[in-house]
Amino acid sequence: MLVVMSHDATQADTDRVVTAIQALGFQARPIPSEHRMAIGVVGNDRRVEADTVEGLPGVKEVIHVSAPYKLVSREWQAHDTVVTLPNGVSIGGREVVVMAGPCGVESEAQLMETAAAVAQAGARVLRGGAFKPRTSPYSFQGMGEEGLKLLAKARDAYGLAIITEAVDPESLDLVEEYADIIQLGARNMQNFALLKRAGRARKPVMLKRGPSATLKEWLLAAEYILAEGNAKVIMCERGVRSFEDYTRNMFDLNAIPVIKQLSHLPVVGDPSHGTGRRELVGPVSKGAIAAGADGIIVEVHRDPTQAKSDGMQSLYPSQFEALMGDLRSVANGVGRSL
Ligand code: PEP
Ligand code: MN
Repeated sequence: MLVVMSHDATQADTDRVVTAIQALGFQARPIPSEHRMAIGVVGNDRRVEADTVEGLPGVKEVIHVSAPYKLVSREWQAHDTVVTLPNGVSIGGREVVVMAGPCGVESEAQLMETAAAVAQAGARVLRGGAFKPRTSPYSFQGMGEEGLKLLAKARDAYGLAIITEAVDPESLDLVEEYADIIQLGARNMQNFALLKRAGRARKPVMLKRGPSATLKEWLLAAEYILAEGNAKVIMCERGVRSFEDYTRNMFDLNAIPVIKQLSHLPVVGDPSHGTGRRELVGPVSKGAIAAGADGIIVEVHRDPTQAKSDGMQSLYPSQFEALMGDLRSVANGVGRSL
């Protein structure tokens, strides 16, 4: 429930509403804005009996938020959330933001060469996992803090922002220290302890959709982060499991406009994990931007044949450069810049 106060309501009116909400056993969150105060009611997954609140002085309107998720919903916040990074890049505004880089950080030369190429082609955010969640315990698990140091070095050298994954609360402590965006991976979408920890982080979080998560489950996972106080959340569609086995996952294009309608949070598409095949990354990236994505995250490797993970879906730097030109045209076609 959202209580909208009239523009001439006083602080005492607001305080009275807060007290009334608390007396009903819920939490009240004042949401000041330029024109008027609103007060959100959280901690309820049932309908609040609003009569006592509706009649209080200064109350203009009571809006029932019908969805089980509240803070992430459009009903709660009508305007788009825009996440701004230290290098001046904003995600969720008019600009479509391209994040690119290797699946994993493998060595200084691999990262620096790839970073130079993606920055040169126009990417604004460098990706690269230092902690890799792998299906097999015998596969490359990432370079850990050493990898984070290399990412920081590449950021400073090329004016990029950096995004990298945290796989558990311990790695999140480290990732929070180094990264500009903390990535939570598909396999951890419903790791509630990790979501809560990310909600207490000082950095923006990109939350990937779980491989078999419904849109509602995904939004509720984001709600965990916002409920802990971190409003800087970016949603990332990366494909879901389906009966089709030609592609690694089935990129859900529908998810992009649906999330934009249901939520104010920015949405990014990941055509690399969404397809698993290099030759499909271009067409699916274009589709994602045309469908309203605020950005895409693409795997690029200086030599995909040598990649320790996800080489099959990683673009060669020259392919990425060509793709950037196409993406710019698509972005312009839907009234955005890139
Ligand atoms: C990744 O971004 O490299 C990754 C592991 O992605 P996902 O969590 O979507 O599988
Ligand atoms: Mn990967």
